[in-house]
Amino acid sequence: MTLPARRILTKSVPAEADDDAVAAWEPVLSALRQSLPEQAFHTWFETLRPLSLDDNVLTVEVPSRFYYEWIEGHYANLLDSVVSDQLGEACNLQYALANGSRPEAEPPPVTVTDRKPIARAPRSLAEDGLNERYTFTSFIEGPPNRFARAASLAVSDAPGKTSYNPLLIYGGVGLGKTHLLQAIGNEVSRRDPDLRVRYISSEQFLNEFVEAVKANRGDRFSARYRSVDLLLMDDVQLLVGRDRTLMEFFHIFNALYQAGRQIVLSSDKPPRELNGLDERLVSRFGWGLVCDIGPPDFDTRVAIVEMLCEQEAVSLYGDVIEYIAERFTNNVREMQGALIRLVAHASLNGSDITLELAKNALRDLVSVREQRVDVETVQRIVADHYNIAPDMLIAKLRTQPIAHARMIAMALSLRLCHLSLKQVGARFGGRDHTTVLHARERVERWREESERFAAEIAALVRRITTETG
Ligand code: ADP
Ligand code: MG
Repeated sequence: MTLPARRILTKSVPAEADDDAVAAWEPVLSALRQSLPEQAFHTWFETLRPLSLDDNVLTVEVPSRFYYEWIEGHYANLLDSVVSDQLGEACNLQYALANGSRPEAEPPPVTVTDRKPIARAPRSLAEDGLNERYTFTSFIEGPPNRFARAASLAVSDAPGKTSYNPLLIYGGVGLGKTHLLQAIGNEVSRRDPDLRVRYISSEQFLNEFVEAVKANRGDRFSARYRSVDLLLMDDVQLLVGRDRTLMEFFHIFNALYQAGRQIVLSSDKPPRELNGLDERLVSRFGWGLVCDIGPPDFDTRVAIVEMLCEQEAVSLYGDVIEYIAERFTNNVREMQGALIRLVAHASLNGSDITLELAKNALRDLVSVREQRVDVETVQRIVADHYNIAPDMLIAKLRTQPIAHARMIAMALSLRLCHLSLKQVGARFGGRDHTTVLHARERVERWREESERFAAEIAALVRRITTETG
């Protein structure tokens, strides 16, 4: 079956949403929420407004044509499957441009002609809870996640047959726990589609259990979980203090464990802080393996940003990538959010993503963690790196190694200290602002020309920002 093209209307938008549309949109929205990173969901879908539902055509309002293009460009397949999943295959989506948005110069409706027919029934999100975008390939390896990743791979290789049962991955928010759990599930399903895999967040587990008990269907609930080959239970810290649910969980856990099935858990707390959960699991089974996952280091962050750019088909300048990687140190999800925001910002304004634009667009996101680096720190560290006295950077000497180090120190001061060209010049022995500009351009060019040099600069930046704290 070929679905008709999805359209965008540029006028005749009703002012009030009708109830049918609201009711139809709700499950679509919540399925989207489950399948997308929070930031992407928030940026692109939360702002859409259901307007009408007529003859199986659901019309939603987009704030601007840009939204429409972005959504169709990036999420068309996902929308196809979610809409047909939730509303039936006959249902179609149509967009309407919000009143007051600029419909751009030419208003004829844009039609997206090559919507692909749905080849297979999309796997329902509810069934195994897996989201195909989280795989090992899309997970960037770095020192702080190497162990957790290796353990996850080992488990995917032979679920239930390693000594890593249960496997517990713990670490802070936004560091890839869910990603790894999902990757295990996807990998296991890919290798052996007959294995029954179930991913569930502890919150959903809790809700389902409460519902099941209320409806007197506790047994069915329990049987469903006892029948899986691989149980991936996310965020178990949420079960702490929920005694009844915990009890149920232990029974399921026990049954699976006895039957040699694989269990993987994640927690944002270390096991010793999982009161009630830890003692019972440990005393009864002993942890198979506990591994923690820490915030990615700078190089890993750069690699993650580069991968995201590739996924989103955008290309960014090296200094913009490094700017994002420098600023978002503790949470990959926030870093992704920043990137999405930046790309949206640039497309809305039709402008190129320069470092200036990045700083502007992300100002409010980074302000809290903005570090105040002072010029002296930059001078001291650069001088130390090149084995010269810091005073030499300020002096008039023009011999090669000193001039070289000076240019680097000026370029880095400009980048890290939030000073103008003129201010930086003044701190380097009263040099002219064009000298600083020249230094920045030279350093930028060297960076492009030599990977080794780029790495050297990255290492310096890391040292400076680490020392600044
Ligand atoms: P957690 O469950 O630990 O809070 P998530 O697994 O949801 O974190 O990760 C947050 C986002 O960051 C996800 O979109 C995930 O794909 C991404 N992410 C985290 N770590 C990595 C990594 N090492 N490589 C690629 N993407 C990552
Ligand atoms: Mg998570």
